Amino acid sequence: MTEQTEQEDRLFKDLGLSPEIQQAIDEIGFEKPSPIQAEAIPELLAGHDVIGQAQTGTGKTAAFGLPMLQYLDPGNDEVQAIVLTPTRELCIQVTQALRSYAEHLDIEIVAVFGGAPIRSQQAQLRSGAHVVVATVGRMKDLISRRSLVLTAARFVVLDEADEMLDLGFIEDVERILRMCPSGRQTALFSATMPPPIKRLADTFMYDPVTISITPKELTVDAIEQAYVEVPGRAKVDKLVEVVKEEDPEQAILFCRTKIGASRLERDLKNRGLDVKALHGDLSQGVRDGVMLAFKNHRCRLLVATDIAARGLDVDHVTHVINYDIPNSSETYVHRIGRTGRAGRTGRAITFVTPDQMRDLDQIKKDVKASISEWEKPEDRIEHARPPRRKRRDGNPAPLDDQPAVAVEEVPEVDEVVEVPVGGPAGQAEPADEREADTIPEAADGAVKLFVNRGARSGLTEEDLRWALREGAVLKDEQVADVRVLERFSFVEVDGDVAEQTVEYLDGTKLKGSGIRVEIARS
Ligand code: ADP
Ligand code: MG
Repeated sequence: MTEQTEQEDRLFKDLGLSPEIQQAIDEIGFEKPSPIQAEAIPELLAGHDVIGQAQTGTGKTAAFGLPMLQYLDPGNDEVQAIVLTPTRELCIQVTQALRSYAEHLDIEIVAVFGGAPIRSQQAQLRSGAHVVVATVGRMKDLISRRSLVLTAARFVVLDEADEMLDLGFIEDVERILRMCPSGRQTALFSATMPPPIKRLADTFMYDPVTISITPKELTVDAIEQAYVEVPGRAKVDKLVEVVKEEDPEQAILFCRTKIGASRLERDLKNRGLDVKALHGDLSQGVRDGVMLAFKNHRCRLLVATDIAARGLDVDHVTHVINYDIPNSSETYVHRIGRTGRAGRTGRAITFVTPDQMRDLDQIKKDVKASISEWEKPEDRIEHARPPRRKRRDGNPAPLDDQPAVAVEEVPEVDEVVEVPVGGPAGQAEPADEREADTIPEAADGAVKLFVNRGARSGLTEEDLRWALREGAVLKDEQVADVRVLERFSFVEVDGDVAEQTVEYLDGTKLKGSGIRVEIARS
């Protein structure tokens, strides 16, 4: 822990990055390196191979991206670095992030992924790429068409290696690695380290430095925790009541899904509360604007999803309200850790519907905290603490006096996957999150189906089983396996009901947003 604390005090300035990169970081607004960045960047700059194990949202892209960009020679037109990613969505995300880090460098970054015309990607490669960010299948394809040569790719990144393994790409990854120069530098990032990934690292990496970031220890002591039991349909009204009673200086209201977050934002605005929302459907620019407004205390209530709230580093949040109960104890800790910082007391209030009481019990057990039923501040026993009336900005306006409509509407924008990077707009085929080539084998007689959402969008195994049962009218014994990964899922069903399952479920809504279901091509 001490080590992590020390790392936390490090600044980007101390890591040895070039002024151009530092400038981009400043403009993006990263204040200090995340733990994986603080540890990985100096190692990669020093030329070492690095294995980075850390959960999603810990800032791995910059951890490999910044040293990678610094390594490149803009005067050399060869492909000097490649980043392999498991899915098209991730490929696009990484490319966008790298381009923002390379804002002041003369570096071309090209994204290549399946489900988009290969011709325009070939053209982009021809006109010069220092870095190629790729999904595995498309990279293989471009190599075999001789549109891509890796003889100068001396900086190789495997991003989300465990998901590449889950998708059955490991052998292809190894084949690609063999085509890169042996004197290359290799960085491998993964949330977990299953044995095949360890073996890959043993075979293809040179004396790697392993950095693993464990989630921070719980410091929930400074946080008063309470719950509110309320039926689903009464949640909004109850929330308004709780917010008025608590009168937070600043609060984050957590929702599980993007749709839920935008709905709550709308409902609260309709009830006259000044609120902004932060969720994955918003462009980075809009998100930055919302974050800034919140950081600068221009907004008191922020509705956020877990994913959007990553990287959100704000002090003085007096309240965290779990409008939707988090889907794991780890997430609970992560969420409520945003209050009670710097020795201040914070409050965390979790909304639970009656059938979620069991989930709350699990959290209580895991977190070893007492979470008691919420009471109005004046009814609380500990009268010692003065009510928090005065705001930091000196604006004592009670909530009721807030304007009915927030000052700026946050515009909705297209989801990232719908914007093909570099390619002519509108040419991409329907969003296909994975590469088509290889999919792990299904069990005997079963057919493997691909579902385009995973744990990240709040989907659980139970949700999928429910959908198979209720939506596709399958019997339990017709479902061989359900596996929820971070960004997508697989289900295995009996061969004779596979098409029926696709027909019934593809395009339907699950937990508020659409799912795509298709037979996984092998
Ligand atoms: P991972 O690959 O570990 O899932 P990402 O690289 O996608 O994480 O980063 C997650 C989010 O955190 C992104 O929105 C990114 O812009 C943000 N982020 C990354 N590094 C920092 C930092 N040092 N300070 C603040 N935000 C950061
Ligand atoms: Mg990542």
